[in-house]
Amino acid sequence: MFENLTTRLGRVLDSIRGQGRLTEEQIAAASRELRMALLEADVALPVVKDFIDKVRTRALGVEITQSLTPGQEFLRVVQQELTATLGGVTEPLNLRAQPPAIILMAGLQGAGKTTSTGKLALWLKEQKKKVIVVSGDVYRPAAIEQLRIVAGNVGVEFFPSAVGQNPVDIARAALAEARKQYADVLIVDTAGRTTVDEEMMTEIAALHAALDPVETLFVVDSMTGQDAANTARAFADRLPLTGVILTKVDGDARGGAALSVRQVTGKPIKFLGVGEKSDRLEVFHPDRIATRILG
Ligand code: GDP
Repeated sequence: MFENLTTRLGRVLDSIRGQGRLTEEQIAAASRELRMALLEADVALPVVKDFIDKVRTRALGVEITQSLTPGQEFLRVVQQELTATLGGVTEPLNLRAQPPAIILMAGLQGAGKTTSTGKLALWLKEQKKKVIVVSGDVYRPAAIEQLRIVAGNVGVEFFPSAVGQNPVDIARAALAEARKQYADVLIVDTAGRTTVDEEMMTEIAALHAALDPVETLFVVDSMTGQDAANTARAFADRLPLTGVILTKVDGDARGGAALSVRQVTGKPIKFLGVGEKSDRLEVFHPDRIATRILG
């Protein structure tokens, strides 16, 4: 995960690690290299600019303490700014709602919504929550079937739906069932499209209005780099998103999506998908990811 970025940043930091004292020129040179590394990682340009400005300003103003060398100070500044860019603090999943807490899953087709629904269901089940999942994808019977199988595999209840039904009717029926069974959480998977289109947005906005979910999670493929952040913003313009699940991070050597999403959308990343299997879900901790990126 993010190996390319780690290698590039490692080189920049190595170049100043041994320095006794950092001059303005050295900081400028290191900042240029940092900028290149982030652009290569496909981080969105405004995010790169902001990051570099902050690192440079802070590095110039840094007080050299007794305990740290200038190189170490620079590393500390980069680490802190990386953490801030990734969102600063961990934003946990919010289930503070009259049960059942409703989680609405949104995203483009193939982003990993159904897989992530199963992962989230398992994660919640492991916390002793009673979970029901339902699919509102009334266009693709295969999607409903996929969710049924995933639910069976992770051992949570699947509320059946069928092609041709109205997604809002399905969601309302699932909610009634979840209430009847005193479920803790209802996760509603939705139909995606290959691109952001008006029909999909209208449909998911109607679902949102009918369900009033406590969490509306945008699921996005991290391999799409800064495009992931742009798609997230297009959704965030129409839907009050509460967080992001970044998927396929296991195959992403660059890291541009992770670094862009928070700043471009203002929405926190809450989970990472790190594999195809249902247990390959990680809670997103900005500080730990920053440490991992720095190797
Ligand atoms: P949906 O159309 O948004 O519901 O997407 P799916 O859940 O069907 O996922 C699309 C493909 O991405 C499937 O082949 C999944 O196995 C794969 N996938 C989803 N999440 C991850 C992940 O975190 N890592 C990897 N490697 N593959 C994933």
